[in-house]
Amino acid sequence: MQINERVLRLNDGVVNPQARYVLYWMQMYKRSSHNHALTWAIRQANDLRLPLVVYEGLKYYYPWASDRLHTFILQGVEERRREFAELGIRYVFYLQKDAADPRQVVATLARDAAMIVTDDFPCFIIPGHNRRVAELSDVPVYAVDSNGIIPMSKFVKEEYAAYTIRPKIHKLLPAYLRPYDEDRVEIDSTGIEVDCPDTAVSQENIAELVAACDIDHSVAPSRVYPGGSAAARARLGKFVSDILPRYHETRSKPDVDGSSRLSAYLHFGSISALQIGLAVQEAKAPEEAKEAYLEELIVRRELSFNMTRHNAAYDSLAALPAWVHKTMREHANDERPVVYSLEQLENAQTHDELWNAAQLEMTATGEMHNYIRMLWGKNVIAWTRTYEEAFETLVHLNNKYCLDGRNPNSYAGILWCFGKHDRPWFDRPIFGTMRYMASHSTGKKFGSTAYIEWAKTL
Ligand SMILES: Cc1cc2nc3c(=O)[nH]c(=O)nc-3n(C[C@H](O)[C@H](O)[C@H](O)COP(=O)(O)OP(=O)(O)OC[C@H]3O[C@@H](n4cnc5c(N)ncnc54)[C@H](O)[C@@H]3O)c2cc1C
Repeated sequence: MQINERVLRLNDGVVNPQARYVLYWMQMYKRSSHNHALTWAIRQANDLRLPLVVYEGLKYYYPWASDRLHTFILQGVEERRREFAELGIRYVFYLQKDAADPRQVVATLARDAAMIVTDDFPCFIIPGHNRRVAELSDVPVYAVDSNGIIPMSKFVKEEYAAYTIRPKIHKLLPAYLRPYDEDRVEIDSTGIEVDCPDTAVSQENIAELVAACDIDHSVAPSRVYPGGSAAARARLGKFVSDILPRYHETRSKPDVDGSSRLSAYLHFGSISALQIGLAVQEAKAPEEAKEAYLEELIVRRELSFNMTRHNAAYDSLAALPAWVHKTMREHANDERPVVYSLEQLENAQTHDELWNAAQLEMTATGEMHNYIRMLWGKNVIAWTRTYEEAFETLVHLNNKYCLDGRNPNSYAGILWCFGKHDRPWFDRPIFGTMRYMASHSTGKKFGSTAYIEWAKTL
């Protein structure tokens, strides 16, 4: 049941009169400000005259769990603990390293909770978590949407493309692209006892903790992107002062530092889209640069969230429109002159130097530039036997290596390569009427030689 434009009630539980606290289970918005879920949890705690406990868990068995993803998350823990303490809020972090470690921690914490507030993230493992906690809890469970600048509930059905959501966003934006009041807790909870293991994390013990986890140790931590809100704020500061003024010209140049590179921080909730949007709105930069940036941050990003919220098939080709299914049927048996295995693709062993460079950038840094990402996806369609295999390969590589993977943008971006949120183009082999991109012409638009050479050094 929708309680207000950002809050969904997930079950019929009743407030526990014996409760010692309100529990905020922080799954995706890993930050202590600009967080509507946290604000809502604080309001509930104040109304019930109870302390608030913030719980964050990191388990070893989510899909693609690796040293890279674990390290990025752990790098923000110490800072979150400090920031929550400054707000008078007890923050508990539990790293479940392997099958021998205690499980069902949320259920245990819920025994002493009046209610549970959590994050309403519309894809990957979160909708399943929320369904289960709502089923198993006797207390009310609320999921709060702090994903984008405009609440997802403002768009009641799946939008067809950017051109259908854009006018709606532009109409709503003045009401949402503005600071909002963040309440403070009335009862300090920092000293409260909780029935839950609390893992001590410091910058010094992260490598040791990660090594002890039963996760994929073959994907190394990123040397380029440190995790945490302070790193996100520092990057935002640099972006707004040095890069934004020319963003409209530089964002399509993978060989320069010309875009925000904030998507990993957005994915893990280290920073909110609102905080970024406000900084961009207030920045000294040409209007065309600001407009170009806000188009990506709000229109494109919120179109992806809209798709995963309303299209249950978002993680498959079934999410594509009818014209794509028709053209895929017509071209399914077209000969693929070059076919690569997953292993060859993963190891950047194709004949295409620019594609290999993109793959190397992703495996080494945890990120791939937007412009190259489109080409990267399109080529895999041509180099695999079926459209399904291409989709599965792209999802796997993107979600395994990219810090910003496993996000609505991951699925929408990959589906875009197959025609989602796009229109039919000229008919051609393999691609049918899906938009085609060739490496040589894409590479000519920016100096791809420098990018290819740089990738070899990674
Ligand atoms: C095949 C493919 C896979 C992709 N996988 C992901 C992914 O896993 N995670 C991810 O966040 N994005 C993904 N994208 C979208 C886009 O490439 C990235 O958001 C962008 O490269 C992030 O870099 P940036 O932060 O410098 O972007 P900027 O150019 O600075 O843009 C600002 C923000 O706007 C949003 N944004 C930018 N481009 C897009 C877009 N095309 N669609 C939706 N939102 C956008 C992002 O949140 C980004 O951080 C994918 C695109 C494609 C074609």
